[in-house]
Amino acid sequence: MVIRTQVLVVGGGPAGATAARRLSESGIEVILVEKDLNHRKPCGGGIASTALEELEIPRNIPHRTVNTIRFVSPSGRKLDIPLEGGKILVVDRRAFDSLLRSLAGASGAQVSEGEFAGFQSRDNKDSKLRSRVLINGEPGIIESDYLIASDGVNSRVRSSLGLKSSGYVFTLSCPVEGLESDACEFWFGSEHAPSSYSWVFPRVDRDSHLPEALSPSAGWCSVGTGISYGNDARLFFERFLKRLNLNGSQVKAARGYKVPSWKNGLYNVGNILFVGDSATQVMPFTYEGIYYAMKSGEFAAEAIINKRLSLYRKLWRRRFLSRFMLMRTLESVFLRSDSGAEKMFDMFSRAEVQEASMRLWLRKDAGRGSLFSYINLFRKFLH
Ligand SMILES: Cc1cc2nc3c(=O)[nH]c(=O)nc-3n(C[C@H](O)[C@H](O)[C@H](O)COP(=O)(O)OP(=O)(O)OC[C@H]3O[C@@H](n4cnc5c(N)ncnc54)[C@H](O)[C@@H]3O)c2cc1C
Repeated sequence: MVIRTQVLVVGGGPAGATAARRLSESGIEVILVEKDLNHRKPCGGGIASTALEELEIPRNIPHRTVNTIRFVSPSGRKLDIPLEGGKILVVDRRAFDSLLRSLAGASGAQVSEGEFAGFQSRDNKDSKLRSRVLINGEPGIIESDYLIASDGVNSRVRSSLGLKSSGYVFTLSCPVEGLESDACEFWFGSEHAPSSYSWVFPRVDRDSHLPEALSPSAGWCSVGTGISYGNDARLFFERFLKRLNLNGSQVKAARGYKVPSWKNGLYNVGNILFVGDSATQVMPFTYEGIYYAMKSGEFAAEAIINKRLSLYRKLWRRRFLSRFMLMRTLESVFLRSDSGAEKMFDMFSRAEVQEASMRLWLRKDAGRGSLFSYINLFRKFLH
């Protein structure tokens, strides 16, 4: 069976669902295939409220509104940074991703449970892409003018084209019972998160109108740790649990997942556009990826709508390149060692650094001017 469409979107996470929504809003014919419509990606689920406003995403899903970021230094010093001008929303990823897909469906995209299995043949004379897909277990071919690869860090589209998989930080995370926190906490220390950080995120509020199956992580804090090298992920994770004084009975089974390390450069290969984690677009240092996945989906859609694929790269670089480069530099300065993390802690203790950082983080659209004044602020302190 061969199905024809203008755009095939592979993967229905934040990147793919946003691309599908924007394309179908412009009247473009889209099929989105998501291999598991009930998938709950292991994720902190933290998003700036301003990002939701920018992308016109309603908040009618289980979430928790958080007003404070907490840093804990390797030596145990704690610092609370209040959020002003916006909040963090902690969402349940299963509910959030299905909300985004339903917005795409409401705009006209055809959303199906299906898995991209590879390309049929790439030596055809016309420029059509022929993808092998399994829909409800049945093999089929989808023929499209464009394909958006939004299938995450282990992208099958990427490997089908023979592209190298991305570098990554490995994470282990799980829900925890009996731990309460009202802040998004970031814990630093090479003992449990070498060159990275560990986190505690508050529980998502349970929505009494929804069946429990839709928000089973509600009522539980989530904790996790990032490990940038080595095979001892479990050991580092256990050290973090120990630092939190948690015992085994409070902890649900931990799940491992990769966060891609950003590498500038992969936007498209011919009519195949890479967005979100498949293109490694996760902010260095913070590992914030949901917003950037949605924005890359939007930019890729814009490029297809305008029939000018180079526009995708241009829009992304204009908006985010300096930000990503800055965060990569800060990551290498502050996360390399415990003394670097203590120094960062000292800097963030100052009101003007807190204020500038939160402004930049919450104001995603802040231009180069704000970015340069931020860089100057850091320079001043580092000297
Ligand atoms: C432990 C952890 C915590 C994180 N915490 C945060 C956080 O608090 N805030 C934040 O902003 N970011 C966070 N991130 C990063 C964030 O989760 C990702 O950057 C974001 O989900 C990327 O979105 P995406 O749509 O590109 O990919 P994904 O969300 O990974 O979606 C890819 C989709 O493609 C589907 N798929 C895969 N293969 C196929 C196939 N062959 N055919 C069809 N479908 C396929 C998958 O089922 C999946 O639904 C975290 C990541 C991890 C691992």
